[in-house]
Amino acid sequence: MYSGAIPVDPFDLVIFGGTGDLARRKILPALFRRFCAGQFAEGARITGAARAGMDAEGYRAFVADVLRDTADPQAGDDTMLGRFLGTVDYVAIDATGENGWAELAARMTEDRARAFFFSVRPRLFGDLAERLHQHGLASDRARIVVEKPFGHDLASARDLNATLATHFHESQIFRIDHYLGKETVQNLMAVRFGNMLFEPLWNSQYVDHIQITVAETVGVGGRGDYYDRAGAIRDMMQNHLMQLLCLIAMEPPAKFDPDAVRDEKLKVIRALDPVQPHHIVRGQYNARPEGAGGGALPGYREEVGNPRSKTESYIALRTHISNWRWAGTPFYLRTGKRLVARSSVINVMFKETPHSIFGQEAGRHANLLSIRLQPNEGITLQVTIKEPGPGGMRLIDVPLDMTFAEALGPASGRAPDAYERLIVDVLRGNQTLFMRGDEVEAAWAWIDPIIAGWTSRGEVPKPYDIGSTGPSDAEQLMTRDDRKWRGINP
Ligand code: NAD
Repeated sequence: MYSGAIPVDPFDLVIFGGTGDLARRKILPALFRRFCAGQFAEGARITGAARAGMDAEGYRAFVADVLRDTADPQAGDDTMLGRFLGTVDYVAIDATGENGWAELAARMTEDRARAFFFSVRPRLFGDLAERLHQHGLASDRARIVVEKPFGHDLASARDLNATLATHFHESQIFRIDHYLGKETVQNLMAVRFGNMLFEPLWNSQYVDHIQITVAETVGVGGRGDYYDRAGAIRDMMQNHLMQLLCLIAMEPPAKFDPDAVRDEKLKVIRALDPVQPHHIVRGQYNARPEGAGGGALPGYREEVGNPRSKTESYIALRTHISNWRWAGTPFYLRTGKRLVARSSVINVMFKETPHSIFGQEAGRHANLLSIRLQPNEGITLQVTIKEPGPGGMRLIDVPLDMTFAEALGPASGRAPDAYERLIVDVLRGNQTLFMRGDEVEAAWAWIDPIIAGWTSRGEVPKPYDIGSTGPSDAEQLMTRDDRKWRGINP
């Protein structure tokens, strides 16, 4: 059951980039839903701040359209929508000039939490931080929310951290990785640290290997320009998959508090071995011709408008965590676009029993804990039982399956979108689900040499078909180790 509706004290929230894509698709709908859930105390104010020269009335009409387009049932309730719009204001502003700043400062209320959401191009983050300071808006009570990507490599992430640190303390900086706001990702910690059952087995003595898969069916869409400079390694691996790896591999923090959790995650990243070139496979999707099942689709290079692109839309790699818990257990991570199904899942493959008392014909069996993050959020534990019937002691593997929506029933309600959780945490000042500066830098320090290696060797990604599980070399990454990827199932 989601019981996060404890009201947040009155606040001022400013969305820089309040007319942009992210504001439209994520931030404004999330705010509206939390408002409808009764989470905003009287007096909360949301101010859109963007370049467009409109007034508050124009922005309210824009927000109303955005919310109606999301088809949120509550957006059809004129009273609810009207009350929400009553909290909304707008200032036309230029991050790089003087326009709008004095007006914005005049609209802020003293003595209440103040959050500034930087939903603009990353190259404007420094300008925004500087202007907030110049106009007296960077007080101790202010918080800034910074969207991904956080840097392009270690040097740029360090620069950005240093720029933000000029005017804001680390406790005021909320770096978003929206994966951490997903209900099921938080559930990873609940499953690991809320049950006695798993933790004693959670180490290399019992776990053969771990697979983390984040598969998408979509292509790069309208983000071609950005994506072709980033690729799957920067867009997904450096942040989302690394975060999942940290949550699955970290030591139990002493408390569920921001620094205790982030300290443990950081230790995981710092303990990662450098990845060997033959432990990485990169891929790029081919075009799908007319007449193929599902119809024609452009290939990666066509979609990004770069016929010679060497950027990967798929990556699979094998890594190790050099510490007492995990020495000897490989972690296999893969992510890609235009794959066979949309599926984010973590598979913890346990070792086979050391000795079978049932003889050879019973076969070898191992347990598998599958944690599905999306879709069909839930957990499956594969256990071995006797095959029913008179055929002797033959063993089969069966799933103990729990889909959260079924197990929790209607009382569980709608799972809140990640941004709902994250924005409320910003307003409350809780940083547990946000990345700390040193965490981001450590992740880049691990990623940078991988990219440098590709560049120096002039490597080109392997082609793969739309609707497949990725390039065939990724299968070999596993078969070489006498292992197999689990299927990518919707
Ligand atoms: P967008 O281009 O759709 O919107 C940009 C916004 O910034 C607009 O409101 C524009 O008016 C404003 N803006 C531009 N220049 C400005 C200036 N000089 N001063 C003040 N405002 C200015 O971008 P977006 O897709 O909404 O992305 C915003 C941020 O979120 C980026 O950092 C992006 O990397 C990140 N992000 C976006 C998505 C997404 O799905 N759109 C996903 C993850 C991260």
